[in-house]
Amino acid sequence: MGEKGVSVHSHHEHSGTRLVEEAKRVLTGAGEQWTQMRADVFAALAAQDRPASAYDIAETVGHARGKRVAANSVYRILDLFVRTNLANRIESANAYLANAHPGCRHDCIFLICDDCGRAGHLDDDRVTGALRAAGRDAGFAEVRPVIELRGLCEDCAA
Ligand SMILES: [Zn+2]
Ligand SMILES: [Zn+2]
Repeated sequence: MGEKGVSVHSHHEHSGTRLVEEAKRVLTGAGEQWTQMRADVFAALAAQDRPASAYDIAETVGHARGKRVAANSVYRILDLFVRTNLANRIESANAYLANAHPGCRHDCIFLICDDCGRAGHLDDDRVTGALRAAGRDAGFAEVRPVIELRGLCEDCAA
């Protein structure tokens, strides 16, 4: 994902087949089946570095399978992936990204390029921890930071 990690805790970020294996391990560990369709959706999601919509993924999977895939069924799988930490929803882009660390749950801070749409993320538990604490102090329950930084990626800024 080409990011410079600002990590204050250590976890492994996976890519390629390692990431697929890790995703499979986490999903089956959550008591869910790793079906061929789910594997195809995850592969399509993991293959791109821009947030993808359910329609984008449906198209990619449809091409790979040689038959039309309904965006609705892809949407349900993406929803499952978000719940089980295999994918993250990028709210400002109304789209999804594969989670590079499905085995580690924390609050990711996403970086999205305004120009090319590429997305990366960084992890900084000090920032997200402070936001959680501030939310709780304000009397809010089940606080969950959703943080997206927009700007220009290194390539586009150059
Ligand atoms: Zn993260
Ligand atoms: Zn860019």
